[in-house]
Formats: sequence, C-alpha cells, structure tokens
Amino acid sequence: MRHLRREKRARGDKIAWLDGLVVATSSVTIVIDPVKLRTISSTSRVLVSHAHSDHTRGFRHKGMKQSTTETREIHSVLNSHRVSNFQAIDLNRKVSIDDVEVKALNAGHMLGSAQFLVRTPESSILYTGDINCVDTLTTKAAQPHRCDVLVIEATYGSPFYHFPSRETIYANVVEWAVDMIKQGYIPCLHVYAAGKAQEIVRLFNVYTHLPVIVNPLLDGVNMAYQKAGHALDWMSAASVEGGEVLENNPCVYVTTPNDRRSIGRKTARAFATGWALSMRGRNAAFPLSSHADFEQLVSFIKACSPRKVYIFTGSAEGLRRLIRTELGLEAKAVPSINQRTLSDDY
Ligand SMILES: [Zn+2]
Repeated sequence: MRHLRREKRARGDKIAWLDGLVVATSSVTIVIDPVKLRTISSTSRVLVSHAHSDHTRGFRHKGMKQSTTETREIHSVLNSHRVSNFQAIDLNRKVSIDDVEVKALNAGHMLGSAQFLVRTPESSILYTGDINCVDTLTTKAAQPHRCDVLVIEATYGSPFYHFPSRETIYANVVEWAVDMIKQGYIPCLHVYAAGKAQEIVRLFNVYTHLPVIVNPLLDGVNMAYQKAGHALDWMSAASVEGGEVLENNPCVYVTTPNDRRSIGRKTARAFATGWALSMRGRNAAFPLSSHADFEQLVSFIKACSPRKVYIFTGSAEGLRRLIRTELGLEAKAVPSINQRTLSDDY
C-alpha cells in the first residue's frame, strides 16, 4: 500500500519546460527563470536566478516572486523597475512553499546569483542557472550538490572551451592595458554591465594604481556591489573628475559590449568573454568568463551524482556524449509541456 501511494505521488511531480523551468507538485507550481509570462498563472511562484536580462522576465509576473536581494536590486537599477509582490530568498536558507522546500545556493556567476535546490515530496531537483566554478575577485565558486535531477546550463558544453587560470587571464588583461597606455591609448574594456564590469574594476584596483573610469550605465551596479561589501574604486565618465581624468590622464575605461561612442582620445578596445577563444578580429579579446568551461561542467555533474541530467542553453553535444559514456546517463533537453497538460494534471 505504501509502495502504491509512493508510485501515485511520483506521477504527481512534474519537471518540464513551459516558458521557463516548471516544477509542479499536487499543491504548488514553481516556475524558474521564465522567458515569457503568458502561460504562468498568478498563483504560480516565480524564482529568478540572477540579474542578467535573459533571466529576469519573471520579475514582471503578477504573482509572488523570489530571488536574492542583490538580484532584485541589480535588476531594479539596470531597468528602473521596482519589483512588487516579492520575497527575498537568502543563500543557504531553506524556504517552504506548500509541500516543496527551496534552497538557494551560490552560483558563482555574479553578485546575488543563485542555483535553486528544489525538494518535492518525491525528488530533489537542482537548477543551476548560469554557474561559474572558479573563485574570482568578486565571486566564490559555485559548489555542486547531490540531487536526483540536475538541470544545468552548458553555455560552454564543448571540449573546445578550456579556460586558462583566472590568474593568467588577469595578468594578460593588465599587461595589455599597461602596454596600450605606454603606446598612448586609453585601454577600453567592453564587458557586460553586471558582473564582468565589476570584476574588471576590481582587477585594476587590486593590481594597478590606474584610475578606472566607467560608462555611467555601470554606476548603479557598481554601487550595489559596494553595498554588498565589495571594495570598488571607480569614477563615472559623467562626473566632472571622471571627465577630467578621461581627457588628461592615463586611465582605464570600462563600458558595455556594444558601446562604440568616442571618448575623445585614442582608444584601444578589448573584449573579456569566454567566447574570446573562438573570436577573430582586430580587437584584443580575453577569455574571462562568468560561466563554467567544459571540464568544470563535467566535474560539477559528477559531484552532483544525479539520476537524470537535463541541459539547457549552449551547444552541448560534447557534454551530452560524455555524460552518456562516462556516467551512463542520457542528457536531454528539458521536455516541453503545454498549458493544457499542466492544468489537466494539476
Ligand atoms: Zn547570466
């Protein structure tokens, strides 16, 4: 009888893709990082893993939303959007939502980024969001957690992506910048406004005495990092002192990936992204990534020891093959469901 009841409940839990990762039990539906809101009922609970815009659509959901405080704050400064109907979820603290327990774990991707460990009555599901598995100047490495089902990003899910050590990349970036300054240029780093930009500011603060001037768009995120205890020293290009340094002194300029506006002096441009390994162009590019590389992904998956692995994002053929041969598991894309299926079952 007990066995039968367990079987019945097992059919009750559902993990699927419906404009976001859905974990549904007989009493609650949780949607993680939805990309659209049209299918999400107002009673569903939405979780947001981190503040990059491809993960934050859920902050527009009418019902209850949860993320770390830092994720909401960075989203708010970047989008001038005040999120209502919100409950903060702290890292490493368990939160109960009906018959489901949710624990946010550090994802190492940017300030406030979280993985979500969801325990239903039947299984434990770990959703990684975007993860980075090495320590950086502004983040601690994501730690794996044992789970039954692992839903993992695989942005760099090909063996081609092997990143040099963080220290090597940091040294290369600083060396390049100093060299450009000696040649009379302002080194200009094009990076994501949230996460990478703050790592670059901290890099020059720690390893050089060069003033760091930033695109004013980065100011609010830098301040969120400061508030969270990260010592960042920068000047906005919009400030009088920042403008003067930019005009007259050796300095480093940090801006967004697509900003091509002139800053008045000769500029040497560089990008800092994991894609640098496959980029060809006349600008410098450094493989400074906020994501795990192939080997880190494999180690992470092994340490989680899951029964099932679902992969989202990225070209993950290499990773799929390896999971099959080394772990004896099928790695699949998350199965899609439609609204009708979800409401019929629950
Ligand atoms: Zn991200």
